[in-house]
Amino acid sequence: MSSNSEVITINLDTPLYKGSISLNTGLFINGEFVRPQESQDAGKIDIINPSTSKPITSVHLGSSLDVDIAVDAARKAFKSTWGLHVPGSVRGQKLQRLAELIEENLEEIAALEALNCVASLILGKPFAQAKQELNMACITTLKYYAGWADKIHGKTIETNETKMAYTRREPYGVVGAIIPWNNPLAGLAWKVGPAVAAGNTIVLKPSEFTPLSALRVASLINEAGFPPGVINIVNGYGPTVGASLASHPLIAKIAFTGSTITGRKIQEAAAKSNLKVVTLELGGKSPNIIFDDADLEQAIKWAGIGIFANMGQACCAGSRIFVQEGIYDAFIQGFTAVAQHLQANTGDSFSSPNTLHGPQASEAQYKRILSYISSGISEGAHVQTGGEKHSDGEGYFIKPTIFTNVTPSMKIAQEEIFGPVAAVIKFKTEEEVIEMANNTTYGLACAVFTENISRGIRVAHAIEAGTAWINTYNTIENGVPFGGYKQSGIGRELGEYALEK
Ligand code: NAD
Repeated sequence: MSSNSEVITINLDTPLYKGSISLNTGLFINGEFVRPQESQDAGKIDIINPSTSKPITSVHLGSSLDVDIAVDAARKAFKSTWGLHVPGSVRGQKLQRLAELIEENLEEIAALEALNCVASLILGKPFAQAKQELNMACITTLKYYAGWADKIHGKTIETNETKMAYTRREPYGVVGAIIPWNNPLAGLAWKVGPAVAAGNTIVLKPSEFTPLSALRVASLINEAGFPPGVINIVNGYGPTVGASLASHPLIAKIAFTGSTITGRKIQEAAAKSNLKVVTLELGGKSPNIIFDDADLEQAIKWAGIGIFANMGQACCAGSRIFVQEGIYDAFIQGFTAVAQHLQANTGDSFSSPNTLHGPQASEAQYKRILSYISSGISEGAHVQTGGEKHSDGEGYFIKPTIFTNVTPSMKIAQEEIFGPVAAVIKFKTEEEVIEMANNTTYGLACAVFTENISRGIRVAHAIEAGTAWINTYNTIENGVPFGGYKQSGIGRELGEYALEK
């Protein structure tokens, strides 16, 4: 194995963060940073700052050969120094320590995250929110699963007076994990936490667009006490490294988060190779339903968070907003003010504590969102506010956008835009809105705003979605399962559920 990968230094001198961050740009395999195998070296990829569209640095790309080496290391660790060779309490201690080390380096890791992509499920102040998000969606998740590690037990089953059977919770072996760019460290923790707590070893591929924070976390894995090979991080492109993980005959389970199109490829590759277990966390077009009797102020606030948090780059984004006719005008007035407030406070993550809205994560994503906006306009929807890029600057900034006069068949009401674009649809009756809300191939999340608790629960149950919120949005807890109906996914993450499959 060729080693001696490069350490680079990123210097940040901004109003909100000043410091030098050292980062190894290699692949993390078997407890060390290495360069990709020379025979298949795919070179390096520039990692872009979306606020400026300029490179931050470049990192090495792995290949299928590197995946083979990482899987081999993970298998050896599983058979000797991890799995059920190690008491659950010890596995838990190491996960807990990793979480503490991330916490000790919180400012630096959050700065890397905010530099490479802004990750936050709540609105506002991108760098501050990156810190909060790192805490809520990564550190506490790892600690949550550290707590589970010694509580994963089988059952005894008495079959008659003289016979008794027992079940044993055994890990799979090597788990492959593939994650997207919209919330890199939450993605990492949601995969690593349950897999490693249960005794599996893991080979994880971050998104090729946002590997920096995962590489920084990789540098803490040995210090946390994990034996070599338990957690491996192989950066690379989807069709190479990702596809090798999905089709690898020695990987027992693949956990994927990303688009529905890629999820389909993962499932095909898993079926064709070794029928590995597959969990898929995919896209969404989630309905947010606001009834006449809703608390208007709350509905407006949460509708804003639902669609504009993380610049709309959230799988569970409330991108279809159904508003009952009696409250429609007042809602549109207040919701427009929310979007315009964000438009007036747009900027990069580090320039001002008043920044509320940042750039889209990549140029491809930026162009894709602008093309959806054009399609909404050409199909006859009305741009209530926004509907264009933020300025002629170089970053990937798009104005928070609200479309009204949307009909359910329009592309902007059917397809996942994954950007700050809300499609608002007026409705009259409960029956009508349930029908429209379920008229999608997706089923990740939904929300209902009403002061009538019976109606709230009735409608939440009628919507085909893995998560239903009532009078709130984007409220995600470590102990509560998360995942999709229909083409939004298979299996559940978080909670005890993530330990089951
Ligand atoms: P994507 O599917 O393009 O990529 C996701 C990951 O898959 C990346 O690491 C990519 O390199 C890899 N990949 C791409 N092609 C592959 C292939 N042929 N084989 C194996 N791996 C491959 O998605 P994205 O654009 O990075 O992320 C956005 C999507 O992720 C959205 O659809 C969003 O809804 C979804 N998402 C879902 C959840 C959830 O929990 N349900 C969470 C976050 C994001």
